[in-house]
Amino acid sequence: MSFKTIISFIQNTFETNKGIPLHAPVFKGNERDYVLQTIDSTFVSSVGAFVDKAELLMAEISQTNKAVAVVNGTSGLHMALKLVGVNTGDEVITQALTFVATANAIKYCEAEPVFIDVDLDTMGLSPTAVLRFLESYGDRRETGTYNKKTGKRIAAILPMHTFGFPVRLDELMKIAKDWNIPLVEDAAESLGSYYKNKHTGSFGSIGVFSFNGNKIVTSGGGGMIVTQDLKLGERAKHLTTTAKVPHNYEYVHDHVGYNYRMPNLNAALLCAQLEQLDLFLKDKRDLAETYASFFENERISFRREMEDTKANYWLMCLELENLEERNAFLEETNASGVMTRPIWQLMFRLPMFENCYRDDQTNAVFLEERIVNIPSNVRI
Ligand SMILES: *Cc1c(COP(=O)(O)O)cnc(C)c1O
Repeated sequence: MSFKTIISFIQNTFETNKGIPLHAPVFKGNERDYVLQTIDSTFVSSVGAFVDKAELLMAEISQTNKAVAVVNGTSGLHMALKLVGVNTGDEVITQALTFVATANAIKYCEAEPVFIDVDLDTMGLSPTAVLRFLESYGDRRETGTYNKKTGKRIAAILPMHTFGFPVRLDELMKIAKDWNIPLVEDAAESLGSYYKNKHTGSFGSIGVFSFNGNKIVTSGGGGMIVTQDLKLGERAKHLTTTAKVPHNYEYVHDHVGYNYRMPNLNAALLCAQLEQLDLFLKDKRDLAETYASFFENERISFRREMEDTKANYWLMCLELENLEERNAFLEETNASGVMTRPIWQLMFRLPMFENCYRDDQTNAVFLEERIVNIPSNVRI
């Protein structure tokens, strides 16, 4: 199948031959109404009814006991790592195949990322590779697991559900338990994705979602910390709201806190978007079906969800034959106004992470050379 054929198919699918974005937000529900309500109420900033409502909605959707709204997903990851005890000089196991925010959040804690390979099928952190690493380097002590080679504590495992395709959570959770290392899920891309009928983000000690403009639903900018542990959730709320102790008029703060609150204005947009999540998910699933049948039995393959999982199909993916074909595809599609993007450059290629430990990265490199995202817009 030629790239021309693929381009025409995508243009037909979106019923336009003008620019087709990768993932444009859709505001066809109560967005305008709710945002205007915040303006009329004057509560546009850090407290307000929509913040509370968004947190309740997200706890329900993610099947967790507590959700805490934050200013973006990156700050949510920073807090999540701090809350599970990641500190200066620690190490955090994560994947190099991710958006830079995952690795940045580790650095904010003055800890070091340890890049472990992904699975070819999930495109997320590989339990086999994590276990291989821990069996070679892990040293179980009373205060946790340490890296024999560096002497540093391995303070967390941070998998990411790439493009909304869930990682092997059962296996990773078992390793986390066996080695006594907290697991935090970077669920920034996986709102509406399930692993064995349970929502992603609800498995680890903490899960973090993002509502950036390009995600499946958006609050303009925003994120959500979710957890089953009420105490940890309360702590998250406290730390992200300047650690202020309730008082009628005094400014009392009992910790170095963070101003990571989501403004009510953004929460209003988020509430309206969350009301339409099921609609968006259904529409994206239809689009995924359309792509899947078009690419069926083709050399260029369309990525489907794994057995026992339900993906949100946030950004849909094609796997091309090799780097040359990938580059030619990116060139031709973008020149025709059909927006496509390569997967991220692996984290260890970036100057700030080039000296971090990494294993062989065979699968990550394979995917880096072949995976591209294609237009994944909701069409309603
Ligand atoms: C979007 C994203 C984040 C967080 O993004 P923000 O823009 O800070 O909300 C974190 N990790 C991954 C993998 C992401 O895709």
